[in-house]
Amino acid sequence: MTRKWVYLFDELDQASSYVGGKWDNVRGLLGGKGANLAEMTRIGLPVPPGFTVTTEACNAYLDAGMAFPEDMWQQELAALAEVEKKTGKKFGDPGNPLLVSCRSGAKFSMPGMMDTVLNIGLNEETVQSMIKSTGDARFVYDSYRRLIQMFGSVVMGVPDEPFEEVITEVRKKRRVKSDAELTAEDWMSIGERFRDIFRRYNRIDFPTDPLEQLRLATEAVFKSWNGKRAIDYRNAAKIAHDLGTAVNIQTMVFGNMGNDSATGVAMTRNATTGEKRIEGDYLINAQGEDVVAGIRATDPVEKMAQTMPASWEQFVEITRILEKHYRNMQDVEFTVERGKLWMLQTRDGKRTAQASVRIAVEMVDEGLISSEEAVMRVTPEQVDFFLHPQFNPHSKKAAGAEGRLLASGLNVSPGAAVGMVAFDADLAEAWAKKEGKKVVMVRPETKPDDVHGMLAAEGILTSRGGRTSHAALVARQFGKPAVVGVAALEIDMSQRLMIVKEQVIEEGDWISIDGSTGEVFLGRLDTMVPDISDPWLKRLLVMADSFRRLGVWANADYPDDAKRAREYGAGGIGLCRTEHMFFQSERLSFVQKMIMTNQPTERREALDALLPFQREDFIGLFRAMHGLPVIIRLIDPPLHEFLPNYESLMTGLADNKIRLLRAANLHEIDELLRKIEDDEHVLGRVQDLHEANPMLGLRGVRLGIMMPDLTQMQVRAIFEAACQCTKEGIDVHPEVMIPLTSHVNELKVQREALEEVARQVLEEQGVVIDYKFGTMIEIPRAALTADEIAGHAQFFSFGTNDLTQTTFGISRDDAEKGFLIDYIQSGILPDNPFETIDRNGVAQLMAIGVERGRKTRPGLEVGICGEHGGDPKSIAICHELGLNYVSCSPFRVPIARLAAAQAALRERMTDG
Ligand code: ADP
Ligand code: MG
Ligand code: MG
Repeated sequence: MTRKWVYLFDELDQASSYVGGKWDNVRGLLGGKGANLAEMTRIGLPVPPGFTVTTEACNAYLDAGMAFPEDMWQQELAALAEVEKKTGKKFGDPGNPLLVSCRSGAKFSMPGMMDTVLNIGLNEETVQSMIKSTGDARFVYDSYRRLIQMFGSVVMGVPDEPFEEVITEVRKKRRVKSDAELTAEDWMSIGERFRDIFRRYNRIDFPTDPLEQLRLATEAVFKSWNGKRAIDYRNAAKIAHDLGTAVNIQTMVFGNMGNDSATGVAMTRNATTGEKRIEGDYLINAQGEDVVAGIRATDPVEKMAQTMPASWEQFVEITRILEKHYRNMQDVEFTVERGKLWMLQTRDGKRTAQASVRIAVEMVDEGLISSEEAVMRVTPEQVDFFLHPQFNPHSKKAAGAEGRLLASGLNVSPGAAVGMVAFDADLAEAWAKKEGKKVVMVRPETKPDDVHGMLAAEGILTSRGGRTSHAALVARQFGKPAVVGVAALEIDMSQRLMIVKEQVIEEGDWISIDGSTGEVFLGRLDTMVPDISDPWLKRLLVMADSFRRLGVWANADYPDDAKRAREYGAGGIGLCRTEHMFFQSERLSFVQKMIMTNQPTERREALDALLPFQREDFIGLFRAMHGLPVIIRLIDPPLHEFLPNYESLMTGLADNKIRLLRAANLHEIDELLRKIEDDEHVLGRVQDLHEANPMLGLRGVRLGIMMPDLTQMQVRAIFEAACQCTKEGIDVHPEVMIPLTSHVNELKVQREALEEVARQVLEEQGVVIDYKFGTMIEIPRAALTADEIAGHAQFFSFGTNDLTQTTFGISRDDAEKGFLIDYIQSGILPDNPFETIDRNGVAQLMAIGVERGRKTRPGLEVGICGEHGGDPKSIAICHELGLNYVSCSPFRVPIARLAAAQAALRERMTDG
């Protein structure tokens, strides 16, 4: 028996049992559009009858070198006969003709990727009978010319322009502005000229045999799977290339049969903000593509409440049913034909990060989904996008006052973008990728072949199009700020400039767009990172907190960072890098003095001068983290990093020597000589400290051992700060972290020396404090000997940057500009190991570290403070390894909270 290639919309059960009952597989077989049309049919919603040719048929067709698989066409004809029975019409019948649309639909929605042909079945004869049955010649001739045009461009590849030119010409001749004013005769003559165009381009006549039309359209959909636009989109959206597309053949319904007919698209909730209110556009007396193309100005869909109240009421009820059924916000297409509502499509709606969060939370409140589902539905990337830059309100106000607010449009994808205007996708991509420029891509409207430019741009601006335009959908999907439909922009592509409010803006000029408000500004506005005050995000994260097992701490060096971290929900500081404090200008000179001198007393003096600074830093940190642990890492980098670099010293020296030759007076000579002497002294020390491999050199605990008074000063500062805070009533939990241990003895001697200082301070101050001494595990040897090390460490923190570097033997600083990128692109490495923890290598060392460490010291606190702590995939690994917490940058804390919860929930799902 041959395979079943075709399923009627009411044969969902058969399709489902063929693929084993899983909805995901049904979508794979019938495509998203087909599966949902069948599902809507099944639950009794009004869907025009039709059938789906499967993705398997598409793949078979493509594999066979463009030949229909055996029996497919016969099955298509049989299904067509069923549809004829249901509708009481006959395909190609001059008496009562059935017209159909041919619609592509892959497993994942690919907006605008593969085109639809409407009105299939029209020819000279059926046109006449349609005119008789509808009494509307204008409508029929308009439909007919649309078929020729769509068939020409979609199936046969005739460009749109010659068709559009004809319409424009007729409009001019008839002295009318809009298509709506053209008459039946106009459309009839336009149709004839369209057929001439068709003949000219294809050297064949427009096929008047409806079955021939259907066959060619089916084939065209199959072929479009491998069109360039489709391939580009799949690459960008990471969709597999072997899924194939289904073809949906569906009875036509007409929104253009007079004022009791309409067509529209809608989201069941607001796709930008998530507010629970139907949002959409519709047009009275029009066909579907009129709304999407943005050719005619649409009305907001809720206006239907006045213009066609009965249909509106039914529509609202259907959206409610759909949301309840799919338990998600839906994106729907509908048509009203002479007062009768038909549903033409539904799918889960694309939405902004903001909307995604709000909808998930509100659906929990409405009882549609569980809080576990809500947490699983929002991606960590969306939370990241949520916290993307916004314009600084002051900068915005100032720009407004200076008259730099150019125009406003639709705020379809939030976020602030600043960039240079680029008027086409190729240029946008070239500027962004090759020249590292920031660009805002500006177009009248975007098309699928613009996607590469949109991805490269900071933001997208269009003068036409609505909330459901291509630009809006793509921008939302990829999290790019976008403003569309800015009618005030006059874009002149030939001169490559745009005019707004009499201002001329050329390609390369800077503009700023606010995708959250729809405003467009001239010049560069300042951006800032938003606070986390969104009430729905807060609630979602609180839900996440109830599921996660991992703690989420933050890497913070300054009190301000610590405050932000806490505000974002951090449960502690997992890493405070003390050396950052050294780089501040008033301190650096003491640091340099300390490094330069060989005299113990001079070094003491320099360190004594630094101590109060460090103490103040820690006091700020402890105050911000009242009640929570704060891990402070002692100095880590090699000392030469605090001195001027060798090259600049050499050139400075050379300059001064030349100036010495030309010195005008003794005073100047004196001055220069002194400078030269100083520089030579520094240069000497820089040369002393020079190492061939500084990453593997005198740093971390080695430095503490070789220069004990430096780390002793730091520990004194920590404990003096802790004592002072305790006296103020602040609850402090300092944890002193010794970096780069590779042998237990290093840790042992360093800890003994340091803990001695701690005890001294506590004794001096008469204060009792809960503190810990621990170490970073960032050298493979430390992980392997974790049992020994745990004997002297009260906590571990994986420094996965260094651990990755030392495990791979790859220098992080060099590799990422060199071969590592090649490795990733060519698939030698699956991921960048500096971004995502290397599961098979580095993670194994971590597992050993955890296991052996806890064998010696059960309950040992283990965390991670490398860059990976904020990466969702790595967070999942940390969860599996049973770490106590991950520590990441304050901005990534919310992302990590969600990722940690998702790791826990995923584990539950696989266990249960
Ligand atoms: P896309 O994936 O680009 O949205 P669709 O297949 O959904 O393509 O169709 C394009 C337009 O044609 C939509 O507005 C849709 O509602 C309309 N359309 C498709 N099939 C029919 C039909 N049988 N009757 C009326 N309108 C239709
Ligand atoms: Mg559609
Ligand atoms: Mg390190």
